[in-house]
Amino acid sequence: MKIITVIGARPQFIKAAVVSRLILNTPDMDEVIIHTGQHFDANMSEVFFDELNIPEPHYNLDINGLGHGAMTGQMLEKIEEILIKENPDWVLVYGDTNSTIAGALSAKKLHIKVAHIEAGLRSFNMNMPEEINRILTDRISDILFCPTDIAVKNLQKEGFEFINSLIVKTGDVMQDAAIFYANKAGKSTIKIQGKFILSTIHRAENTDDTCKLQHIFNALEEISNKIPVLLPLHPRTKKKLEDLNYDFNNSCIRFVNPVGYLEMVWLLKNCELVMTDSGGLQKESYFFGKYCVTLRDETEWVELVDNGFNILAGSDENKILNNVALMLNKDKTGFENKLYGNGDAGQKILNTILNYDSKSKITI
Ligand code: UDP
Repeated sequence: MKIITVIGARPQFIKAAVVSRLILNTPDMDEVIIHTGQHFDANMSEVFFDELNIPEPHYNLDINGLGHGAMTGQMLEKIEEILIKENPDWVLVYGDTNSTIAGALSAKKLHIKVAHIEAGLRSFNMNMPEEINRILTDRISDILFCPTDIAVKNLQKEGFEFINSLIVKTGDVMQDAAIFYANKAGKSTIKIQGKFILSTIHRAENTDDTCKLQHIFNALEEISNKIPVLLPLHPRTKKKLEDLNYDFNNSCIRFVNPVGYLEMVWLLKNCELVMTDSGGLQKESYFFGKYCVTLRDETEWVELVDNGFNILAGSDENKILNNVALMLNKDKTGFENKLYGNGDAGQKILNTILNYDSKSKITI
């Protein structure tokens, strides 16, 4: 069986590392990796291939730095050419980026089966490019691998029982990654002592809105006066802050370049609290027993909020400060790590693909 995996952005490398490792150990299954090039900086791409032992991509499309239409369009054209040449049995796509929809759409138009990993997530905010990508990818996928019950329910509410696709609840491949790599993370090269908050900001809804971005950074500066805030700075956020003439030299925030996954695991294990607008990091906070203040108005990972592990603070300065104070003072209890599976999501994904029967509809 030949699988083509289409990836292009940082969180997809981490998710694909889990499944690629298992494919390597599965007889009669071969993987060809297409890297669209959406993320291309060494610390946003290469580091993950190196330290997570992801096989070298067979194709690197180097498509980046473009608007959504041009980027997705170029990906469609190039991926289609490769799919015609390689003629795979399955195309695997992850998450919700332009690489996800481009991989799924190119495959579907060629009648190649598509499996979507991290299906069924919804923010119900159609202004997010990610929400558009996920809804469209889900609709044309043959297998929808859902990380949670809520993701399955979202699909059922959208009428997926009337669509010829198979819905499988697997748990979350990021949980698999956290378990597999938890003890492989050495000490961080970043010198930081004592208590600190770990923060990342990169969502377009924050970076592309000057007002929101300023409020968030005002809050981070204020918090930094009391407890150090370590912030691995995403290139998009860096560019936006530079455009706003952000005074990096006089900032109290501890900015560092983006770090590799293993370093991130170390930081997650050792921080007091996480403040982020990242989807992946909200879950990883929980995996490593830390509360999270989410700098967005909604989340796809609602079970974290419902169970009190995560709180939505949006971009309102006072709300952020109050919620950080609240979470810093909260006893760290109840982190039993049961919300996202047992670390076998990757294996369930491969078993399902190997035993796929197009007549099956749903397995929970
Ligand atoms: N991450 C990392 N280094 C960093 C920042 C994030 O390895 O400097 C990891 C993080 O631990 C998580 C993933 O990247 O596994 C999340 O990616 P990102 O926040 O870019 O995307 P999202 O999850 O919001 O789609």
